[in-house]
Amino acid sequence: MEFDYVIVGGGSAGCVLASRLSEDPGVQVALIEAGPPDTSALIQCPAGIALMARTEIVSQGLSTVPQPGLLGRRGFQPRGRTLGGSSSTNAMAYIRGQQADYDTWAQMGCSGWSWAEVLPYFLKAEHNERIHNQWHGQNGPLNVADLQSPNVFAKRFVEAGIQAGLAHTTDFNGPTQEGVGLYQVTQRAGERFSAAKAYLTPHRGRANLHVMTGLTVDRIGWVDGVARQVHAVQDKQAQVLSARRDIILSAGAFQSPAILMRSGLGPAAHLQSLGIAVRHDLPGVGHNLHDHPDAVLVADAPGHTDLLGLSPKGIWHTLQALWAWRQHRTGRLTTNFAEGGAFYKSRAEEAHPDIQLHFVVAKLVDHGRQLTLGHGYSLHVCLLQPDSRGRVQLADSKPHSAPLIDPQFLSEPRDLQRLRDGVRQAQRILAQPALAAYGREWAASAQAHTDEQLEHWIRQNADTVYHPVGTCRMGQDPMAVVDAQLRVHGVTGLRVVDASVMPRIVSGNTNAPTIMLAEKAADLIKAAR
Ligand SMILES: Cc1cc2nc3c(=O)[nH]c(=O)nc-3n(C[C@H](O)[C@H](O)[C@H](O)COP(=O)(O)OP(=O)(O)OC[C@H]3O[C@@H](n4cnc5c(N)ncnc54)[C@H](O)[C@@H]3O)c2cc1C
Repeated sequence: MEFDYVIVGGGSAGCVLASRLSEDPGVQVALIEAGPPDTSALIQCPAGIALMARTEIVSQGLSTVPQPGLLGRRGFQPRGRTLGGSSSTNAMAYIRGQQADYDTWAQMGCSGWSWAEVLPYFLKAEHNERIHNQWHGQNGPLNVADLQSPNVFAKRFVEAGIQAGLAHTTDFNGPTQEGVGLYQVTQRAGERFSAAKAYLTPHRGRANLHVMTGLTVDRIGWVDGVARQVHAVQDKQAQVLSARRDIILSAGAFQSPAILMRSGLGPAAHLQSLGIAVRHDLPGVGHNLHDHPDAVLVADAPGHTDLLGLSPKGIWHTLQALWAWRQHRTGRLTTNFAEGGAFYKSRAEEAHPDIQLHFVVAKLVDHGRQLTLGHGYSLHVCLLQPDSRGRVQLADSKPHSAPLIDPQFLSEPRDLQRLRDGVRQAQRILAQPALAAYGREWAASAQAHTDEQLEHWIRQNADTVYHPVGTCRMGQDPMAVVDAQLRVHGVTGLRVVDASVMPRIVSGNTNAPTIMLAEKAADLIKAAR
């Protein structure tokens, strides 16, 4: 049970690290994942995402603490819990964010993380099936593709966006992000292409790569003051793994800070209140939690069975589609649901797009946990650069306890105002002939006209679009948790590499940026050898 590197968490970041670090056959790498292997058909079949939030076979449904900004409601925070982590359960949209996001990171003290310095890692990771230019990679492990069978309603959404005045784009990851179009997705030949599929599956035969599933890490252990041990639990049995070089936490934005805190690294008063011995007072651990607040407009489109939905004809179409997917990996079950998208400014004076849309080819209520009859479509409207900041804390010191997640959604008034203006523009898109000819927005949002009515509707309905970040923030100031080499401040032998190190959220979905982070981290770790 002794390795050179022990990676904790086999998600988007962990799979990249395991693959890159084990390229050197002289190095022994262990990857520890709490969840099961990624063999479920719900993962492979893109439309399986519709059942994940309900079944929790490969996903864990966490909740936030009551959110005053959401009228006291608890938010839902699903996380992938299997090899591939949330890349095995996400909506597969391939988005990098804006160039300015990374230049801001560099200005915040994260030297080496400007756009010019991270672009090579986006390219290194990517194999883009369609786009062959200087903005895209061709030789990377992560397959990026156009949707195989785009839904006619996604095309109508794009048309409606153009009618509302947005520019049409065929690449949100080119020189400009602004516009409306169809998303490219992390899929290959009609199957989901998770980080595990891209980085782990091809290398499972490596003798120096040890992948362990069903093992939950509790805390880090110390030898002569250096992080050297990983204490884990499997079926109530304690296990200890040792690392000769680095231990790398890649357990995601909620669990990486939780593991640090259980290991005595975190805000001293919080740890002491739970009886955890403080090894190093790191006040920033768990702080700076932020996420994209998101509100979903829903429309009915009765009888339009092109849209996925519950009706006798819809169920028959889905059964036929299941056959098509099993036989040929084609058809409507290759949908990622969030097929179309747009980026725009909530107000003209914004320097960059601060609103993102995801057009969903079904009615989406309560993250898909609430069943609705009939057919329709939905439009996620999310705020890309929220000012609100929250926190993750431990409920107790046990490894299986869910952390206390408090994103403080919409606690900053500016967030609500910008989201409100963004929702208004999204409603304008839904009202364009290309869509309005087929469906009608639900009354609850359609009848909210004044600022106050819209803001109230948002507080009643908003939640996450699944992009928590920032809880082990990179930087040099006293609240930073890791330095620009992603080493935990104040201790030796320990790094954090996952979405938690982002100092500020990127303006888009977070999977590709997390994979980029891990690609760059692998080089930093190799260079440190
Ligand atoms: C429903 C959903 C939809 C999304 N849609 C998109 C999208 O369309 N596009 C996009 O770019 N992004 C999307 N995202 C976000 C994106 O997938 C995540 O930001 C990204 O996967 C985070 O990667 P990570 O490595 O930080 O964490 P994860 O991928 O979540 O990996 C963490 C891993 O650590 C494991 N783990 C946790 N604790 C322990 C422990 N104690 N011991 C051992 N293992 C542990 C977990 O089981 C998990 O496998 C979505 C996310 C979700 C949940």
